[in-house]
Amino acid sequence: MGRATARTLGCAALLVIAITGCAAPGGTTSAGPPATASRTPTPVAPTDLPASVAASPGATLAVLPDDRAGTALDRPFTYRGVVLINKDHPVSKGYAPKVGESYQLVPEADRAFGRMLAAAKKDGVAIIWRVGYRSYAIQQQLAENPPTQYGADAEFYVAQPGRSEHQAGLAVDVASKAGFGTRFPETKEFAWLRAHAHEYGFILRYPEGKTAITGLNYEPWHYRYIGPAAAAAFGPSSTLTLEEYLGGR
Ligand SMILES: [Zn+2]
Repeated sequence: MGRATARTLGCAALLVIAITGCAAPGGTTSAGPPATASRTPTPVAPTDLPASVAASPGATLAVLPDDRAGTALDRPFTYRGVVLINKDHPVSKGYAPKVGESYQLVPEADRAFGRMLAAAKKDGVAIIWRVGYRSYAIQQQLAENPPTQYGADAEFYVAQPGRSEHQAGLAVDVASKAGFGTRFPETKEFAWLRAHAHEYGFILRYPEGKTAITGLNYEPWHYRYIGPAAAAAFGPSSTLTLEEYLGGR
């Protein structure tokens, strides 16, 4: 199956294979300019948030104010050179970045992912690419028909349209022949990524135990490109979230 076919099938195909993969929402990258040149968001410390928000599972912490509206939503929210897409920082239907043929990521991320796969292969590690870019329409279909295995937790695995990092061409879902979805952490491919992904500009976007911050459950298969400079602040085996990094927490 070619990558284009895989993309067309999207999550439906992935869900058959893996519990989670496709449903994951996506984040951001260093591609793309700020929505408005003059905005200077002020990070909000967790202690400044209402207790109900800070303690509510699944509620994305509003670490960065976002006053975009109308056509400003045609570009992703960007702060400190990094794109951020989550429940609090959506994009409109009008946002559709050009992505590469190889891994359906924006060109810089596409090349970086290719280098990462090649390096892993040299180490005897076979990371399987599953999905990169996902359109607003596909994300909408997924949100309206979430995989039944998610049950009541579907909203913590499937981002609403406009709220997925996959729509930015900056997020990629991976797997291993030895395990995928929730079993992926048991594989050497996962271990390799945890040790080296940051060297290629990728981070584990939804670490375990950070649902209250990211709005999404642990997704060991979902990696986000933020560029090597920003990813260096994360380092190996990091459980830092992009929200925490950008919010300065
Ligand atoms: Zn994903």
